[in-house]
Parts: sequence; C-alpha cells; structure tokens
Amino acid sequence: MKILCVGRNYVEHVRELNNQVPAEPVIFSKPDSALLLKNKPFFIPDFAEEFHHEVELVVRISRLGKNIAAQFAHRYYDEVALGVDFTARDLQAKLKSKGLPWEKSKAFDGSAVLSKFISKDKFATMQDVNFRLDINGETRQKGNTNQMIFSIDELIAHVSQYFTLKIGDFIYTGTPAGVGPVKIGDRLQGYLEEDKMFDFLIK
Ligand code: MG
Repeated sequence: MKILCVGRNYVEHVRELNNQVPAEPVIFSKPDSALLLKNKPFFIPDFAEEFHHEVELVVRISRLGKNIAAQFAHRYYDEVALGVDFTARDLQAKLKSKGLPWEKSKAFDGSAVLSKFISKDKFATMQDVNFRLDINGETRQKGNTNQMIFSIDELIAHVSQYFTLKIGDFIYTGTPAGVGPVKIGDRLQGYLEEDKMFDFLIK
C-alpha cells in the first residue's frame, strides 16, 4: 500500500504560501507508517515548532492500473475519505530553501490522518463535493472539489504514468486555503458535506 499526495492543488492555498500555481501536479508520498487512523490523537513531535493542518479529500484505489486515461480514471476508485496531511511547516521551509526533499516535514509518523471511507456513489459527482475542517468548533478550512486545479481523474491519470496504482493505495488530493498551526488540546473535526468523518485531539 502506498500513499501519494498532491501539493498545491487549490489556487488560494498556493497563494497563501506564496508558491507558484503549478503547470502539472506536484506529487510526493508518505510511507504506511504515516497513517493515523480511528480518531487516534495526534502527538506533536519535538523535531519542529510549527505543525500545520491540511484537510484533504482522499480517494482509495480499487483497481490495478498504469497509464490510466483520465476519461477512465473514475473506474479506478470507489471510496473516498477525509484526511489531514500534517506538515511541519518550519522544517518544510528549511528543506525547500535548500532544495531538499520534503519527507521529514511531510511523511513522519502520524502525518497522514485518515477517516472512515464512504462510497463515492453517495455523491452525484465527485467534482462538486464540499468538505471542511473545524477546530474547537470553529471552521478553519473549507473547500469544494470543484476548486481543484487538477481534478481527481486528472490526478489519477498523471500519477499512474509514474507509479502503478494498486488496490488499497490512497491519494491525498490537496488542501484548500486556511492552513495553520495546531496546538496541544485542539479538537479537529472533519466533514464531508454534512457527514462527520473524523474527530480527534492534538496531544
Ligand atoms: Mg497537502
């Protein structure tokens, strides 16, 4: 099982971090040890100062595929979840400034929060799905998949040129604007439309 992640896929988030709008998807990966499941708490690690939440729609690959055409990509995933791509922002800034890989700041243990999954058939279209992250009862990030620079189907087509997609792989599809640091005691609740998908604490 692998976890592929998309960076810079919502224009307003690209702008809030002063990055360039990409001409093609920005892709990185996390190991399976990054997964944080079942509403377990996120323990803030001690190797950085600033850990940011990035709420993201996650798709689960349901069929083996390589070089998948975008028009057939919808056949390669059946379920969606909500995740948080935790990012050690200060460490990431250091790595970026030196032109080094992001893994230490993005792929550490617990950095891939993952909710329960629901069938994509629940939605009329995957290109118009609202999701949000509330912290301590206040909405901090709000997105709709129609704001993605690269749609889910385009992302599947793109990544499958480089990585064979296998059943059970996950793709984190990027975060909308509103990222920011978490602190001990915060309660994070994520919603896909009106369904509560996750609810966990920062410790
Ligand atoms: Mg992200």
